[in-house]
Amino acid sequence: MTDNRDAILTANADYAARFGDKGALPMPPARGFAILTCMDARLDPARYAGLAEGDAHVIRNAGGRASDDAIRSLVISHKLLGTQEWFVIHHTDCGMETFDDATMAGLLEKSLDTATLAGGAWKDVGTGPGSVEGHYIDWLTIPDREGAVIEDVRRIREHPLVPGTIPLHGYLYDCSNGRLTEVPAATEAGRPL
Ligand code: ZN
Repeated sequence: MTDNRDAILTANADYAARFGDKGALPMPPARGFAILTCMDARLDPARYAGLAEGDAHVIRNAGGRASDDAIRSLVISHKLLGTQEWFVIHHTDCGMETFDDATMAGLLEKSLDTATLAGGAWKDVGTGPGSVEGHYIDWLTIPDREGAVIEDVRRIREHPLVPGTIPLHGYLYDCSNGRLTEVPAATEAGRPL
């Protein structure tokens, strides 16, 4: 872990040395939009969507799902920081497609160690003890790739704290080629009211 810390601090010193005038950036996103996307390490929203510091809000979680906490951030993004357009961007080959709630709870019940994925099946190889707490969490897994984008856009659209004037767009990022493809039914569900 210390190697990671050193690498991060070295990179940061470099970044700060070339920080330029970014210290003067205002807090509200200059381009007035927010992206909700997955935490997957292969996704770099700043690059795939052409963002610079100060441009937009990027909210990330496992799956890029419209969880209560993602909605909390989006509401703040609009209500206090003025974003007027939101994008929900899931992706191909998402880890959230590889398990369901029962699988995750079962793995955690055996141990807290990192599980292995072999032949499409998760297996716990830890020594334990685990915890039953995993049974009480909705892991927001993704059984249907396009369906999840539609579901998330719809949930945000119908949320009482989200104004009907905000256009919502649904997209899938392709991990094999870096391309964004619209999920038309999601964008349709996200049309301003
Ligand atoms: Zn993902």
